[in-house]
Amino acid sequence: MAGEPLLETVAVSRTYGSRSRAVHALSRVSLRLWEGERLGVVGESGSGKSTLARILVALERPDQGEVRFQGRSVLSGRRQDLVSFRKGVQIIFQDPFGSLDPRLRVGQSVAEPLRALRVPGDHGRRVQQLLEAVGLPTGSERLYPHQLSGGQRQRVAIARALAPEPTALIADEAVSALDVSVRAQVLNLIADLVDRLGLSLIFISHDMAVIRHVCTRVLVLYRGEVVEEGPVDQIFEAPQHPYTAALIRSVPVLGGRIQDI
Ligand code: ADP
Ligand code: MG
Repeated sequence: MAGEPLLETVAVSRTYGSRSRAVHALSRVSLRLWEGERLGVVGESGSGKSTLARILVALERPDQGEVRFQGRSVLSGRRQDLVSFRKGVQIIFQDPFGSLDPRLRVGQSVAEPLRALRVPGDHGRRVQQLLEAVGLPTGSERLYPHQLSGGQRQRVAIARALAPEPTALIADEAVSALDVSVRAQVLNLIADLVDRLGLSLIFISHDMAVIRHVCTRVLVLYRGEVVEEGPVDQIFEAPQHPYTAALIRSVPVLGGRIQDI
């Protein structure tokens, strides 16, 4: 593909713990997200997905390697580059209870990134538009997170992520904690918004079926390493790595069980 990736990691590694009891959460993971692309990252629980997600939005630094947004280093970036990165790459987590401040009304939560990033304009109006875009009823802005259902809370988290008008969205198990009945709705909402707003997406999940529904390309993580990557359809039809094949079948695998998180 021509040009440079929108977002990329180059040989990113992250180890937790002490030297004697080290956990290699990520080992030399390189990933490229092209503009307008929907890239899946799949792996069982503990394979390093959330560590990668946190590194992609600079909530955490890798021990080694590089993260670039629009060709510029995020780790050693100039201030101006960091501001465009902070606006440009947003994340949705698995648990909206964890990502929404329980003391803030929905409207305040969605407006918060606008304030923090000093986005100009009428924030109140923007919040209304965002809540409507994610399908929440009028008046939702006055409610607190505990007054909403799990699906509604995740819609708020999506609105909040979209607030600064990002170009890239990272979704880390964004529907895994939801009731099966609302999972498809929220999944379709994310896909529709990504389409409509022309966003690039990294969709992280333990569930190959969900990845197939949303993504065109997928990267398979196993114990912190990329073991396979390619077009989703191709990988589904002819997985090259036994771990990938097991993920597709969703059965117990090498070194542990694939967990339904
Ligand atoms: P996943 O999201 O695929 O379940 P994680 O990135 O959460 O995987 O975890 C990868 C590995 O790193 C696991 O062994 C996990 O226990 C370990 N790990 C993750 N975060 C931390 C942390 N903050 N401190 C220590 N170990 C961690
Ligand atoms: Mg995780």
